[in-house]
Amino acid sequence: MTLALGCIADDYTGASDLANTLTRQGLRTVQTIGVPSDDLKLPEVDAVVVSLKSRSIEAGEAVAKSRDAEKWLRGRGARHVLFKICSTFDSTDAGNIGPVMDALRADCGEKIVLVTPAFPETARTVYQGNLFVGLVPLNESPLKDHPLNPMHDSNLVRVLSRQSKAGVGLVNLATLTRGADAVRTRLAELAGQGMGAAIIDAVFDPDLETIGAVAAEHRLSVGASGLGLGLARALVKSGKVKPASGAAAGRAVEGLAACLAGSCSQATLQQIANAEAVMPVLHLDPDRIVAGTEEARRAVAWAVERIRSGPVLIASSATPEEVAALQSRHGRAKAGHAIEQAMADIAEGLTNAGVRRLIVAGGETSGAVVDRLRIPGFLVGEEIAAGVPVLRAVGAKDGEMLLALKSGNFGGPQFFSDALGLMH
Ligand code: ADP
Repeated sequence: MTLALGCIADDYTGASDLANTLTRQGLRTVQTIGVPSDDLKLPEVDAVVVSLKSRSIEAGEAVAKSRDAEKWLRGRGARHVLFKICSTFDSTDAGNIGPVMDALRADCGEKIVLVTPAFPETARTVYQGNLFVGLVPLNESPLKDHPLNPMHDSNLVRVLSRQSKAGVGLVNLATLTRGADAVRTRLAELAGQGMGAAIIDAVFDPDLETIGAVAAEHRLSVGASGLGLGLARALVKSGKVKPASGAAAGRAVEGLAACLAGSCSQATLQQIANAEAVMPVLHLDPDRIVAGTEEARRAVAWAVERIRSGPVLIASSATPEEVAALQSRHGRAKAGHAIEQAMADIAEGLTNAGVRRLIVAGGETSGAVVDRLRIPGFLVGEEIAAGVPVLRAVGAKDGEMLLALKSGNFGGPQFFSDALGLMH
């Protein structure tokens, strides 16, 4: 297999977002959880997104993990590697964007790397090197109060210069709007001045295509899903990728179906209420979950009794008042962790009972379930709702399996039925 595009994402949800974006552009895409083992069998794909949790760890560790991922991707023929970062450039002066970029650039022998977190469609724009989040510069946006990496400077040339050993230059909008050749010339000029990276402006969606076309000629780029979109379009346009028609096809998955909800978001509460009309729903007792593993066992037994007649839903979800009351009784972290682990126990019990189509509501809940089921990766399929695709497990110990992993507020009011309708 020769990958047209390799990606290294510095967090899981960003990786899913990128994998979904690439799929929508016609690239057959697998998202892996961590650096895959060498014996992972992949279907024929155009792109692999390796998901790391390297955004907020120590820089040296982030560099080591990213280099492992790069080695794996290059080993599968990836000529271009996109280091996927957050579209709000989440980082500190200690890293990790600069140190990872420096290391990957040294590894692939690239002179200069294009860098942009811009994604105009989601209101992330870059002008004269300054990142805007909606109407305001980054340092006036809610990111100024981020608990891990407060962003106090909107000028990305300065931000990246503080993190990187490379000199950082700017390719501004005036140059970009003159086209790909003007960008190439400017990059050569900056490289000639000894610069190793260039922040590139992007304000309108078509800007991403110009950037993607130039970036694809290099070995490495750094950006968010917007740059992924630009690269994907460039790969399709140049004929390096033949766009897959629709979602990745695959063998039908016949097994039993179940839904789990650990999200307490408004949208999820409404989706659970609507599901009550079409399937049996079990509401877990959160106090009993915190007390021990009996409640999870009870839930699996409840499901096993009903599941041969059709899908079931098991939910821990509760109203904000109930959540606050539980947290005050047990502590926020302890309550959250206990419920996530119970959901993972239930998911394991359900797959042991033959469930092969599993829908999970809740970001952290999904993470706990995927870790427990030891699923190494997913082939991204059809979209159930914006940002929520059907996922086909790749290399899972339980064989063929379809999943839908939804974070809090995603999906329409009938999400659970919508998902089941597409998962077969
Ligand atoms: P979302 O995507 O909506 O943020 P998550 O799964 O990421 O959902 O987060 C929900 C958190 O709330 C998890 O840690 C989960 O274990 C916890 N949780 C679930 N049900 C309850 C409940 N009844 N009371 C308190 N916390 C809960």
